[in-house]
Formats: sequence, C-alpha cells, structure tokens
Amino acid sequence: MSKAHPGCLFCRILRGEIPATVLGRSERSLIIADIAPQAPLHALVIPARHAADIGEFMAESDADAELADLFALALAFAKEKNIDRTGHRLVINTGSDGGQTVGHLHLHLLAGRPMGWPPG
Ligand code: AMP
Ligand code: ZN
Repeated sequence: MSKAHPGCLFCRILRGEIPATVLGRSERSLIIADIAPQAPLHALVIPARHAADIGEFMAESDADAELADLFALALAFAKEKNIDRTGHRLVINTGSDGGQTVGHLHLHLLAGRPMGWPPG
C-alpha cells in the first residue's frame, strides 16, 4: 500500500482495522464479501493501492500489472465458485452518475441470478 489514507473505508479494511469477510487475496488485491449483496454472490475486488477511481488508478506507472492482478483474482475466484460456467457480471462504478459510493477503486463481482440489462 502506498499511503495511509486514514479515512478511506477500503484502506481501513485492507489494514484490518475494520472487519470484513475476506474471500481471497493476491499479492496486490483483496476480495471481500459485499456488506449489502445485490445478488446471491456479490464480492468486491479491491486493489491494495489507494486510488479514488479507475482514472486515478490508471495514471500510475505500474497500473497495468495491478489491473491484471485485480482481474486475475476476480476470475480465479469465479472459477473457484464455478460461476465461470454459469456467468457473472464485473462492474466498476465511477463517479456520481456511475453510482460510486466508496472512493477507493473496486471491482464488483455479481453472480447467482440472471442479470438485467440495461442496468438501473
Ligand atoms: P460502489 O457504490 O460501487 O462504490 O460500491 C461500494 C460497495 O461497498 C457497495 O456495494 C457497498 O454495499 C459496499 N460496502 C460498503 N461498506 C462495506 C463494508 N464495510 N464491507 C463490505 N462492503 C461494503
Ligand atoms: Zn483507500
């Protein structure tokens, strides 16, 4: 983790200051259960490095490797849960119109029911 970001919810979860249901981890990312699940399976894949959103995250020089790690962890978990066969949805909400409520980049992994389209 690069900086402390004391007020950031996901930084605090990453540091173990706030409890969470940890579903897996990699060198650079953590996967936890969402506290308010929107599907039978709803996990959040969180990069260890704090970035407010995907734009800020990608501006860093090592972002490609970190992004690859984030997706690899999500897909490994999907395989573990056998939802690589039935299907799933990966979502990154960005900003107010995107519906982002936590200012630390994260990937939603949703599965276990058919998803509607378009999203709300
Ligand atoms: P977003 O709205 O895309 O920023 O996603 C934030 C997600 O974090 C929401 O789905 C929340 O339910 C979830 N969330 C908020 N607080 C916690 C927490 N303490 N542990 C796990 N998930 C959380
Ligand atoms: Zn953070």
